[in-house]
Amino acid sequence: MAAYLCPVCDYRYDETIGAPREGFPAGTAWSAIPDDWCCPDCGVREKLDFEPITARKG
Ligand SMILES: [Zn+2]
Repeated sequence: MAAYLCPVCDYRYDETIGAPREGFPAGTAWSAIPDDWCCPDCGVREKLDFEPITARKG
């Protein structure tokens, strides 16, 4: 599962957690999020602006 970060406010969307208050239950894949979905924290950035968080090992 991947996670994505809002470049403005550092809101983080984690697929394993989802965004229940946004209507996306835990396990909702990023690809299932509408492209016009805005960051719930800052409302400035849309899905396309989010940056993937690379999983780090160790
Ligand atoms: Zn944001």
